[in-house]
Amino acid sequence: MRAYLGAAFQHPQSLSATPHPRCHNPPHALHPLALMSPFRDALVTVAGRLLVAALPFAVTGFFIWGAAGAWAAIALVLGVAFVYYAVKLGQLLRWLEAPDTAVPDGSGLWGDVLSRLYRLMRQERQAHQQLTDALARFQQAAEAVPDGAVMLDADNRIIWCNATGARDLSIHMAKDRGGLIANIVRQPAFVEALNMQNYREPFSLKGHGAPDQSLSVIIVPFGSDQKLVLARDVTQLEKLDTMRRDFIANVSHELRTPLTVLAGFVETLTRANDGANPVTNKALGHMEAQAARMQHLVDDLLALSRLEDSANPLVEQAINMPELVAALATEAEQLSNGKHQISMRSGDAWVSGNRDELRSALSNLVTNAIRYTPTGGHIDIAWELAGDAPVFRVKDSGEGIAAEHIPRLTERFYRVDRGRSRASGGTGLGLAIVKHVINRHQARLDIESIVGQGSTFSVVFPAARRLPAAAVAANG
Ligand code: ADP
Repeated sequence: MRAYLGAAFQHPQSLSATPHPRCHNPPHALHPLALMSPFRDALVTVAGRLLVAALPFAVTGFFIWGAAGAWAAIALVLGVAFVYYAVKLGQLLRWLEAPDTAVPDGSGLWGDVLSRLYRLMRQERQAHQQLTDALARFQQAAEAVPDGAVMLDADNRIIWCNATGARDLSIHMAKDRGGLIANIVRQPAFVEALNMQNYREPFSLKGHGAPDQSLSVIIVPFGSDQKLVLARDVTQLEKLDTMRRDFIANVSHELRTPLTVLAGFVETLTRANDGANPVTNKALGHMEAQAARMQHLVDDLLALSRLEDSANPLVEQAINMPELVAALATEAEQLSNGKHQISMRSGDAWVSGNRDELRSALSNLVTNAIRYTPTGGHIDIAWELAGDAPVFRVKDSGEGIAAEHIPRLTERFYRVDRGRSRASGGTGLGLAIVKHVINRHQARLDIESIVGQGSTFSVVFPAARRLPAAAVAANG
């Protein structure tokens, strides 16, 4: 039976659902006795047939030779029946060993048995055919997926992969099937994700196959301890992103010099006019304000380009945060010019990070609080610990932000109220800069806000970045 099914799996086209031509009883027309209890049916049928077959011989034997003759006739009939059933059983066994051959002849009880067996085998063949078709369809679908897919077992050994996975991850199924994937994809990011069970979090793999190739990889657990490694080729996307970044950086850079020249001449003209002509003076005032706005925009774009540049790693130092927070509070007082009530609370923790970047990011939050809080409002600046994590928090009693805007605030040029932002000197890039800086410090930006009541922006640093003041002092 197993041999037969094995053959069916390998040659699905050889399977047929039509009854075997030599099976006299079609599978659906079972003998009526087959509907009764199988053992009792068989017993009754065999006994009945033997009785019917033996009775005429026994009667004839009795009349010719008496009782001895009757017994001899019965023994003869039993002997013939024994040989008949032995032959049939032998045929059945032979057929079961080679089910590809023709079904043995059979009628009556044997016909029922053979018919049932044939039906069972046909159902098995159909089930296997369906499984084979489903597997073939799955493989076709997996091959059609544009991403690379590699299936791993619980020990991270390769079970299967599609053609894209084989190409992008340099897997040769013929020799690598059953091998450890970490022996083939040796990049630390991949091995670490596998070992740390860092699943569902995409990570980047550069130069594994071709030197300039970039893959975005994600490991997805499934079934019982199995994993699917999905790898997407993002080389073109990254090239486009690099081109976009370079373009913005170059344009900003190119604009910087003419803008400085323009602003310089506007200043010179303003001084030369010295208020003599009010119309000219007003026009020059506008030009000066717009030139300053453009300079601000160019500066922010250049700052963003620098933050995005992967060739610009974070240069870290111990930052005296209490001092920095105090400086930010002073800056806030100057900017507010007495229009707000500003309070400041500061713990003594230092952090490890880049001082200039953090100063710029935290200053953006403080500046926004002042710009978006009407005169008379409160602004609270705090440097504190939430558990082990150092947190910088700016709370204002300003206009607040509706919930639907909050997830998009850190996008470039996203503004809740464009006019309001421009009027207060905004570029729409402040929070994008904040996001990049805090990402570089593995920190998190939490925003809570209620329209009409105010907003709280919190930068939560990882506890690992905290440097206790005592330790910093001891190190000099
Ligand atoms: P902008 O230069 O326009 O201020 P940001 O990126 O700094 O750009 O901020 C994006 C938008 O987020 C702002 O336009 C403003 O609508 C909103 N926003 C930021 N901070 C606050 C705040 N403290 N209160 C209310 N709205 C804010």
